[in-house]
Amino acid sequence: MICRVCDSTNLTTAVDLGVQPWANHFLKPPDVGREPVYPLRVVLCAQCGTAQLDYTVPKETMFADHTYLSGTTKTLSDHFRDVAKKVDGRFFANRPRKAMLDIGSNDGTQLQHYRDLGYEILGVEPAKLPSEIANNAGLTTVRAFFNADTARSIGRKFEVINASGVFFHLEELHSVTDGIRISLAADGVFVIQFLYMKRIVENDAFDQIYHEHLLYYNVRTLDKLLRRHGLALFDAELSPIHGGSIIAFATHAERANPSERLKAFGRAEDEAGANTLEWYFAFQQRIAERKTENLAFLRGCRAAGKRVYGLGAPVKGNTLLNYYGIGPDLIECLTERNPHRRGLIAPGSHIPVKIEDELTAPPDVYYVLAWNFKTEILARNQDLIAKGVEFFFPVNPKEI
Ligand SMILES: [Zn+2]
Repeated sequence: MICRVCDSTNLTTAVDLGVQPWANHFLKPPDVGREPVYPLRVVLCAQCGTAQLDYTVPKETMFADHTYLSGTTKTLSDHFRDVAKKVDGRFFANRPRKAMLDIGSNDGTQLQHYRDLGYEILGVEPAKLPSEIANNAGLTTVRAFFNADTARSIGRKFEVINASGVFFHLEELHSVTDGIRISLAADGVFVIQFLYMKRIVENDAFDQIYHEHLLYYNVRTLDKLLRRHGLALFDAELSPIHGGSIIAFATHAERANPSERLKAFGRAEDEAGANTLEWYFAFQQRIAERKTENLAFLRGCRAAGKRVYGLGAPVKGNTLLNYYGIGPDLIECLTERNPHRRGLIAPGSHIPVKIEDELTAPPDVYYVLAWNFKTEILARNQDLIAKGVEFFFPVNPKEI
């Protein structure tokens, strides 16, 4: 393969998680055991340092029917509101007319926060269910994959363009980035929110690696991509969302004046070796050790007759369950608040999903797959903790 960012052919396997089903494909009972599996491997480009998957599940398979809704968690919705306020206050507070484009706008959660601030809004979202939810709520959403053609057909410029998470799963990376340049006003700001690969590795949060996430950026590597398309970063900050995300700010390259904190991110990456193979090899070794520890914990629970439920059925949880080789013998079910997952079964592990409100009794142990919501989860389960229910976190993110 060639590097998705710089076209180099000098790529080396950095992290190998074996073969896994597409993690977002929660199964209906007749499909159990028939889900296809694909290699899940991160390779590193020797030329530009970008970590990426070397196998692509076709995007039509990946995004046609996904059931993730960003509005379902309060933490994420609050975060989107805070980002919208911050961006508006910093860049466009005094502008009477302003427009915002959200790429991969999901159910419109981010659009709504910008509309509340007086923006004209437009979402672009390929998935059927979330785009329908957004349109039904009056949050204008085009059901499409965003790329340069989509940008031309939209035919207007935006003061703010937002992309949250989507920069991980863009197959048409160069066309999308061109589209952003085309759609960005001359003094516009492109706000990119992405999982920070340096932090994923520091947290041993390998579950963030799954087929939808084709690319794993650090600040240095993202800037290289943007510069290929006439854009450049000028600022970045770390946020606790998903256990460690970057909110990066980019604009047209000729206007981008890098902030001190942006430069500090680059220096920290260089000092850690965060864009080198050795860094990833050490990561692979640590996650193999985590596997041994986690299986020992779960087998200990089983031997003691404790009932263990998974808390949350996030997409990333499937990477963790399948790399560890955990099945229904160790975790009885996954509890989930999203009612669209009722009756479904996790791919690979074949652990059934149950809806949280419909449980009759709590288990002895919650194995928390949605570990990135640790604070929220502990806060809303104080009564269970008081009754002796244990909450085990397979990943413990560093404080931000
Ligand atoms: Zn490259």
